[in-house]
Amino acid sequence: MELNSLVNRTKQSKNMAQKVCLIRGDGTGPELVDAVEKIYQAANVSIDWVEVEAGLKCVEAGKPIVPDETIEKIREIGVAFKAPMTTPIGKGSVSPNVTLRKRLDLYACVRPVKSLPGVVTPFKDLDLVIFRENTEDLYAQIEYIVAPGVAHTIKLITEEGSRRIAKAAFEFAKENGRKRVTAVHKANIMKIADGMFLRVCQEVAKDYPDIEFYDNIVDNQCMQLITKWKDYDVLVLPNLYGDIVSDLAAGMMGGLGLAPGANYGTNCAIFEAVHGSAPRYAGLNKVNPTALLLTSSLMLGHLGMHDKKKDIEGALDATLAKGIKTYDIGGSATTTEFTDAICSELKS
Ligand code: NAD
Repeated sequence: MELNSLVNRTKQSKNMAQKVCLIRGDGTGPELVDAVEKIYQAANVSIDWVEVEAGLKCVEAGKPIVPDETIEKIREIGVAFKAPMTTPIGKGSVSPNVTLRKRLDLYACVRPVKSLPGVVTPFKDLDLVIFRENTEDLYAQIEYIVAPGVAHTIKLITEEGSRRIAKAAFEFAKENGRKRVTAVHKANIMKIADGMFLRVCQEVAKDYPDIEFYDNIVDNQCMQLITKWKDYDVLVLPNLYGDIVSDLAAGMMGGLGLAPGANYGTNCAIFEAVHGSAPRYAGLNKVNPTALLLTSSLMLGHLGMHDKKKDIEGALDATLAKGIKTYDIGGSATTTEFTDAICSELKS
């Protein structure tokens, strides 16, 4: 899967290891990054990791949840690999994830949803790609108390924001031989905001006559995905629906432990899995590194390291096909055992 038209890659010297900013994350994040690093060693992937800070550790040290130096470094290097970070629920600091996406204007959140060998689900031959708008909608973080007992959150949709995510989805479809783009909305109720998103998608669709265009109301789309998933190819959604449908689609793949993702802007990209920091499992050596590994493999494609990407995906597929699995997909392997099995495949 390539997204060549989406982001101007920062030019790095061919003779040096590729520089990538690394955020180790919160909760289970650091142990998942350890697993990916171990697999990269086994695969002889040469990355010059530049560690940058963000997340709970920064807050505990009295710093902003995403320090300015982190933003600047990611801008300079142009590529970051990020483990999940925790956002306090209903109180406390803003989301570090939303902050990174907004400050770096990473407007396209792209999430491939594909069946994996050895992972049994009712959804055979799943092959979708979700394009979630990543900077607007209810995630604009504009909310306040109007009066005691009355809260107001603003749903921000713009023509420009809708147009660039729609174009990204269609360009991706064109570059990758995809046949159909479906816009997902709730324009029957939110006639102005979602109506604008839908209208802009319809306008963009006219520039791509070879790609079929459909639209669906989000509730119907959820049902259609469960009953007729093969009718869908590329989905384009505003931020909130994209977030929710991504987790639904991750469940269809077999669980959050499997679903990769990437955030693209005009000048940089951050690679992060769909799942969160799963703090309940931190330190238990239980969680599945597949989602973060497949996320890293999207990054290798972005960096032009196609052979390494192929090697790693092949070793992962072979491990899963042998029935070596973590708890979340019906196995009993620990994170370490699963990681070591992938490393053995790479060395064999
Ligand atoms: P979560 O995705 O962290 O976990 C939900 C459940 O999914 C877990 O309890 C676990 O059963 C399963 N799961 C998640 N990752 C897994 C893995 N790698 N292997 C196996 N099972 C896995 O969602 P949550 O519990 O709602 O959120 C926890 C924290 O993560 C919150 O603070 C939330 O804001 C944050 N979050 C961060 C990101 C991000 O960094 N991009 C994304 C979503 C949520």
